This record gives sequence, structure tokens and C-alpha cells, in this order.
Amino acid sequence: MRVHHLSCLTFCPLSARLVNGRGSLFERGRMEAHCLLIETERHGLVLVDTGIGVDDCADPKGRLGGLFTRVLIGTSTPSVAQTALKQIEALGFRASDVRHIVPTHLDLDHAGGLPDFPHATVHVMAAEKDAALLRRTMPEKSRYRPVHFAHGPKWSTYEAKGERWRGFEAVRALEGLPPEIFLIPLAGHSRGHACVGVEGASGGPLVHCGDAYFHRAAIDDARAPMPAGLRVFEQRLAFDRSRVAENHARLRALREGGDVRVFCAHDPEEYDALRTAAEVAPELRRAG
Ligand SMILES: [Zn+2]
Repeated sequence: MRVHHLSCLTFCPLSARLVNGRGSLFERGRMEAHCLLIETERHGLVLVDTGIGVDDCADPKGRLGGLFTRVLIGTSTPSVAQTALKQIEALGFRASDVRHIVPTHLDLDHAGGLPDFPHATVHVMAAEKDAALLRRTMPEKSRYRPVHFAHGPKWSTYEAKGERWRGFEAVRALEGLPPEIFLIPLAGHSRGHACVGVEGASGGPLVHCGDAYFHRAAIDDARAPMPAGLRVFEQRLAFDRSRVAENHARLRALREGGDVRVFCAHDPEEYDALRTAAEVAPELRRAG
């Protein structure tokens, strides 16, 4: 099993000081959409989170909403070359090689790429699929975008069944996937948010935490405060704020255990560290 760390959107949020904890209040900051591309032995390519899609880059305001575009992306057009589809093609694969997608949740910046892989099975917690398709509240109407699901994804949905992994619940029997790729249900940020665990890659287990936290300070060291803007942003977006705080504490304990590489979707320093460690040697890339 080989794991690539891809950023499928670089956000330029307002403002560097409030989001990254350094720089000016008035310059834009940086966040990434950290996705995993997993090459499996017998199950094709597996994508964990998708970032935004090719069509979103052409019409960010129309497809993602004016507020999201203004606050988080800024004035420059998102790069099509950075979408999961284009990066996967640049590695020598085709869209149809992606047989499975395991999104941590279905917010627009995690599920926007689903239409680029219409043949893939999408594995999510049942509560998250319902939240995204039913859009019962005003915040859910803006965080989930129907254009990302209009192609009719092949859903495979799950309930937590009492399996355990390192003190967390786990769902290991993902249809058509090896047990090394599993969901860790962790609702709070959204109704059916889950982290995604990956075992069997070199360097030890990985846990992609999606938006269970937004900045490494949330789970690294309780004494280092999270940048103020991100703290407010996280609270505003949370479906259940008390569970978000509880999830931070549990993930802090997991990270302190030492052998699991725990990272979230948007922290640029976590992304840079893992990306560097996993940089792909060109001679290992499959010919197109
Ligand atoms: Zn997000």
C-alpha cells in the first residue's frame, strides 16, 4: 500500500494572523485541503477526501457560494491543476482507477471532487449522507452543495457497530476495501463526521481527522492557543460544539501515544511535514 499526500485546494483565508497565528492581520493566510491517494494491491486507487472539483474551479462563486469564495479562497481562481483529478492524471492514472472514495464528511471542500469520479463507491457514515442530502438547517444548506451529489454517487453507508480501535469506535468492514482502511466515527463538526484510519503504509498508521480539528495547537499542547480566527470559525461551523471539544481531547491522547500520525485536513504545517516525508520518486510513477 502506497500513500500520497495531496493538497487539492490551497485556501487563502482572511487573515494570516487570525488563521495561521502569525503574519499581518490584513494579508491572506494559508490553509490546505489535505487528501490521501492510496494505491492498494487489489482494490484500485482509494481517495480520502476530494477537495473541490474541476467544475468548481470554473465557477467557484456559483457552485461553492459567494461567502465561501470571498472569505476562504480570495480573488484568485482556484487552480484546476490542483484538483484531485488532475493530480491523479499527472501521476499517470485515470479517473476510473479511483474505485473508492472515503470522505471524512461531505462539506463542499471535502466532497467537491466527487463528480470527477462518478464510478467510485463513496463510503460515509449514514448520518452524514442524510445530513448532506436532506440539508435540514440553514447552516447545512450552505455547507452541503447539491451540485456535488447531482450525478448520483454510488453510496455505501455505515453505522457504528461497536468495534474498537485505540479507544475509538471503528468501522472496518468497508464494502470492497481492505480492513486496513477504516472509519472512526467522530461526530461533532458535522452530524456524521468520521476520521479515516489507514494501516499498512510505511511509517506507521495514519489518521486523517478531516475537520475534527483545524489547527495542530488544538491537539498538540493545551497551553499553546489556537489562532483566534480559527477558533471562532470552528465553533461557528460545529454541529455539536461540546463534542468538538471532547474530540480534541481524545485526539490529543491518540497523538501523545506516539506511533500514530494524526493530522487534520486544513493545517498547512501538518500537510508540509507529511508531504515532504512521502514525496513520490518520479521513477516509481506508473507510466500513463
Ligand atoms: Zn473543511
